[in-house]
Amino acid sequence: MANQNETNYVDNISIKIIRSKRRRTFGIQIKEGDFILRAPSRASPRSIEHSLNSFTPWIRQKQAILETAEKAPTYTYQFGEQFPWLDTKLILTSTDKRDMPKLTNKNLLIHVPSTVHNQIAYKHKRVVQFYKHVGLKHLTARVNYFADIVGRRPQDVRIYSYKRRWGSCSSQRVITFNWSILLAPTSIVDYVVVHELAHLIHFDHSKSYWQVVERVLPNYRNQQTWLKENGHLLSITPSH
Ligand SMILES: [Zn+2]
Repeated sequence: MANQNETNYVDNISIKIIRSKRRRTFGIQIKEGDFILRAPSRASPRSIEHSLNSFTPWIRQKQAILETAEKAPTYTYQFGEQFPWLDTKLILTSTDKRDMPKLTNKNLLIHVPSTVHNQIAYKHKRVVQFYKHVGLKHLTARVNYFADIVGRRPQDVRIYSYKRRWGSCSSQRVITFNWSILLAPTSIVDYVVVHELAHLIHFDHSKSYWQVVERVLPNYRNQQTWLKENGHLLSITPSH
């Protein structure tokens, strides 16, 4: 029987071995920061060792990149912890009121019933609800502001949990934003707003499309670069 948690090491780097009946050759990959060696189901320890030797330069090179890359922050969800919100930080604060999460001064107020079993998961859910609820108001106001400059107005503005995009613009002229863009500075949020609004004129990324963006935000390339370099840090995942 195959060992479910087979692990080998290259230097001090742990490599998970995953065997499969359909495989004939070895393959190495990184999945969510972990190294995985894909192996044929009956691969001998010797052949695994041999293949890991051949992958060692690749593993060392990738490990160096993983070590230098800044990791997305994680949060404990203790009351008093600070969460990024546009150009400021909000303090997670407890409230007795059972209504929607809201913002007063710089306090992000959430109600957590004492009967809740998994407090961290519950708080995370409430905080995301805050970003969606209050975030939509901010984004709608920015859309309205820039719509006059761009000269087009969307049918509707929505907010959603996208995995890999900051916004979208449908052919029905509905603009949808990823709530986690609100973890970025205001100028970055504005760029995403203008990016989507400009799609109401050009439904592509053609030269004329970018001219519209540039007319509204002459320095948009800075914001674009910031998003490319920092986008993966816009996350408020619980630490465990
Ligand atoms: Zn686009």
